[in-house]
Amino acid sequence: MSNTPSSPSSSSGTGSAAAGADAKSPAGLDFIRTIIADDNATGKYQGRVHTRFPPEPNGYLHLGHAKSICLNFGIAGEHEGGKCNLRFDDTNPVREDVEYVDSIQEDVRWLGFSWDDRMFYASDYFERLYQLAEKLIMDGKAYVDSLSAEQIREYRGTLTEPGKESPYRNRPVEENLDLFRRMRAGEFADGAHVLRAKIDMASPNMVMRDPTLYRIRKAHHHRTGDAWCIYPMYDYTHCISDSIEGITHSICTLEFENNRELYDWTLQTLGLYRPQQIEFARLNLTYTVLSKRKLIQLVTEGHVRGWDDPRMPTLSGVRRRGFPPEALREFCARIGIAKADSMVDYALLEFCVREKLNAVTPRLMGVVDPVKLVITNYPEGQFDTFTMPLHPEDESYGNRTMRFGRELWIERDDFREEAPKKFFRLTPGQEVRLRYAYYVTCTGVVKDAEGNVKEVHCTYDPESKGGSTEDGRKVKGTLHWVSVADGVPAEVRLYEPLFLKENPNQVEEGKTFIDYLNPDSEKVVTAYVEPHLATYGAGERVQFERLGYFCMDKDAQPGKPVFNRTATLRDSWARVERNQG
Ligand code: ATP
Ligand code: MG
Repeated sequence: MSNTPSSPSSSSGTGSAAAGADAKSPAGLDFIRTIIADDNATGKYQGRVHTRFPPEPNGYLHLGHAKSICLNFGIAGEHEGGKCNLRFDDTNPVREDVEYVDSIQEDVRWLGFSWDDRMFYASDYFERLYQLAEKLIMDGKAYVDSLSAEQIREYRGTLTEPGKESPYRNRPVEENLDLFRRMRAGEFADGAHVLRAKIDMASPNMVMRDPTLYRIRKAHHHRTGDAWCIYPMYDYTHCISDSIEGITHSICTLEFENNRELYDWTLQTLGLYRPQQIEFARLNLTYTVLSKRKLIQLVTEGHVRGWDDPRMPTLSGVRRRGFPPEALREFCARIGIAKADSMVDYALLEFCVREKLNAVTPRLMGVVDPVKLVITNYPEGQFDTFTMPLHPEDESYGNRTMRFGRELWIERDDFREEAPKKFFRLTPGQEVRLRYAYYVTCTGVVKDAEGNVKEVHCTYDPESKGGSTEDGRKVKGTLHWVSVADGVPAEVRLYEPLFLKENPNQVEEGKTFIDYLNPDSEKVVTAYVEPHLATYGAGERVQFERLGYFCMDKDAQPGKPVFNRTATLRDSWARVERNQG
């Protein structure tokens, strides 16, 4: 049985070989690593390399975050003394929660990275951020604006028209300071005032048109409680947090390109140490949505079993599905880093998963669509006990034993009453091997009133014990089986892509991404598995011979196994289909 996967193309739509990754430097480095190598060569940061991964704790991490984690922690790990901080960017009290803070830590650890003792919260800097905002006011670089949110939007102008200055823009410093302090003291309602940077309402870069730095939000914060009723905006908070932590390279996704000017302005105006912001293209995957807003919707509307549903592209989801973290790291290494957006083929991720699992999973037998095979010349009540290796190429996995009897479960699909010429499985008159056991020859079939196959009948050759004969007779098919006497019923969840459309983010008129959900993305069946398969624990991965990789689900209970299909073997069946064609 060949299950050696062939490498699918890593990108779709772009036509390039490596997911749109930009050309590498002569040293084989991507453009970010090239910048860092150059900075080290010139001593720009005294040879320091210090990155950070800054999630907002408002959802679970997804595969896109894995790309950012592998990049930031990866780069730190490649340099002597390199560091990567984990920083919770928790400036929006309304959407954030400790549940997310906990899951993010678990996911980063699971991916194989460590922040040592450097876990920070932007909210730890609230007092410092506030003091710096007062400094901006005193330097005439920030003012309290009392326009409504809607007016502020109108005054901003457009890409083609300059904005208009607010009538409050030239408030005296004393008045600004007084109002800002009273904002902090809770004297005003949400939306009554904001603090804005005083930059340039005519700037061609919309981000620079007097961006908001603080807003009033009388909301409870998951860490600071009710200590604050004004909260700093992302752009203001992020650069200062980077600066405080001594970050050297602040790596973020492309949508922040325009924000770099504000990043630099804020730190320069405040006279603070300034890291370098570098943008790269975010990960987009076929048949997948990678936006927290959409993932939250899938969960809250009940389209999936939760954040960790094995169909979800969250790290907790793919973990439950059975993807090993090594496969995710390999995937991130293969897709590389680019400056232009592209779409990566989900098949590349599955390829990495198969490749990793092929090397590390024991191989056992389970029948997911069972039909009974009766061996008419095998005595009733008699059993053979076979000892079988758990990995045919690696003795260190050890063995397990399995009983063979008169009645077995085989895969319904492995029998055809009328088979095409090159069907090498069971069909009347044809001999096949039952894995590690005996040769059997199909003699007939028993059907129910509706004409469905109830039992397949066969005879066995006692001379073929162990799966081969003295006369060297060859058979072309080998089937997996489980004895009816010992087979353990197992719930098996067969997964297909969650979406039917290659790019579910691209919606037609009048539709939403929800309309592209695959109604058959999860199929739950009752399988019969060999007894040894019921001994694995939640999270353990196995290979069902000929069927694919499976992972024991957390819903399993002693004696009641539940398996998630991690990935199919695909290639073993492709060969059969080809032969039939
Ligand atoms: P979303 O758009 O899904 O809500 P986000 O960017 O708002 O994601 P954050 O928690 O702010 O989520 O992300 C933390 C880090 O992960 C950021 O540096 C962000 O740029 C990066 N990141 C998020 N999504 C992706 C992605 N698809 N590919 C690469 N990096 C990503
Ligand atoms: Mg964000």
